Amino acid sequence: MSSPSLVSRLGVVGAGQMGNGIAHVAALAGMEVVLRDVSQAALDKGFAAIDKNLGRQVSKGRLEEAAATAARARITGVLEVAPLADTQLVVEAATEDPSLKFRIFEELAGATSTDTLLATNTSSISITAIAAHTDRPDKVMGMHFMNPVPVMALVELIRGLATTDETYATVHAAALAMGKTVVEARDMPGFIVNRVLMPYINEAFFALYEGIGSAEDIDTAMKLGTNVPMGPLTLADFIGLDTCLAIMEVLHEGMGGDSKYRPCPLLRKHVEAGWLGRKAGRGVYDYAR
Ligand code: NAD
Repeated sequence: MSSPSLVSRLGVVGAGQMGNGIAHVAALAGMEVVLRDVSQAALDKGFAAIDKNLGRQVSKGRLEEAAATAARARITGVLEVAPLADTQLVVEAATEDPSLKFRIFEELAGATSTDTLLATNTSSISITAIAAHTDRPDKVMGMHFMNPVPVMALVELIRGLATTDETYATVHAAALAMGKTVVEARDMPGFIVNRVLMPYINEAFFALYEGIGSAEDIDTAMKLGTNVPMGPLTLADFIGLDTCLAIMEVLHEGMGGDSKYRPCPLLRKHVEAGWLGRKAGRGVYDYAR
């Protein structure tokens, strides 16, 4: 097979925690990035995070100031889909909602060149189902980055049923160019990471719900008892409780309603309250205090 095409112009849809991180690492890798969100407020928040995270890398001596400035200048924020037209690859990182993603992919198929590859950062939704909402399922893939993107080394790559080897090779090369380590996962709910991680987080919510321990004690027990950098409830707040609930719903439905994937009612209650985690200032823990 010929060597994979190199991506020099990347589109990112969604400037939230993940989208701004993907834009950040892609720009540092020398790609021109078009970052799209639906409101100026969301774009402003995304760029503020990029500035803060680049600044942190500079202050820790991990990045030259000039390289940070050059990377920042490679990212253009847009509110429309049209500027994504001439990108070679678009990575969608909008809210974890199947119907929203289906709509975005229909829109991307209409707005981009038929050569543009379309990837989704979904944590759990079927790549094959998303691809079916485009005119080019052979050019659609899962490209699942971890949070925070500038720090976490892993990208899970997932082929849909129709994804070609050529598409895979180009997206794989783009992930490597961004400095990431790649694993390949089958197109099953949650792929590898969230198939294992989310039931663990959900179980931590059940432990809290059933009064087995306080939030602090559950987190301390798992942190010191299993030697992980943070406990499951702290991690859930970091991921976003809306995202955790959406992933559990996909796992529950996608695994035929198996009760082992039933979302914990307490997790649902937090989302109903708008306690979505760190990004909302309140989740299991209160970050406003
Ligand atoms: P987030 O809530 O921080 O950001 C979502 C962004 O999408 C918001 O800025 C919102 O305005 C934007 N958006 C909504 N509709 C849009 C549209 N039609 N077009 C463009 N932008 C739109 O969420 P996040 O944590 O960044 O998650 C984004 C995706 O990444 C989800 O699919 C999630 O499952 C996945 N993901 C999240 C994590 C995590 O730890 N948070 C990790 C890996 C993957």
